[in-house]
Amino acid sequence: MLRKPRVDRGEALTVGDVMAWPAIAIDPAQSAEDALIRMRACGIGHLLVERGRVALGILCERDAESARPVRPVVDVMRVAAFVSPFDGATRVAEILRASHACAAVVCVGGRACGLVTRGDLIRAEVGGRWPRCGSCRSHHRVRVKRSAGVGFCEACLDSVEPFEFEELYVDLGVGDG
Ligand SMILES: [Zn+2]
Ligand SMILES: [Zn+2]
Repeated sequence: MLRKPRVDRGEALTVGDVMAWPAIAIDPAQSAEDALIRMRACGIGHLLVERGRVALGILCERDAESARPVRPVVDVMRVAAFVSPFDGATRVAEILRASHACAAVVCVGGRACGLVTRGDLIRAEVGGRWPRCGSCRSHHRVRVKRSAGVGFCEACLDSVEPFEFEELYVDLGVGDG
């Protein structure tokens, strides 16, 4: 079988080469609505959650959108991997894939200095082909369902699941007769 050679520029790139910095931070006590306003003002999809100078995790636009607007960021954020700007970009792509995360916090000397997101890696052509949601085309936390052979993001997964089960029953020839 002929396959296109996998292009991965990540072997030669570090996190520092592809990351977005400085990270725009938000306090965990602020609301999901505050977070969305800040993201939209800055044109970004992820915020660094920081209490004082201590990085706690990341907030994804998707999670902020699906939360009640008054919900504090601390309830909506996610724990993130911490990486160094000197780490290989390919290694970080593996971490994000394995953890279904859409971003990692980049730290120097224990201080967060930025975020590296799936979008950064995709733009830098790192990590080969990234799965996209079969419904909304997002690359935020896409999980590939082996049974369906297609991936969906966590936000869409709930709405597509019933259909998959129906198809599975048809495939197996299981009926109620
Ligand atoms: Zn995200
Ligand atoms: Zn989706």
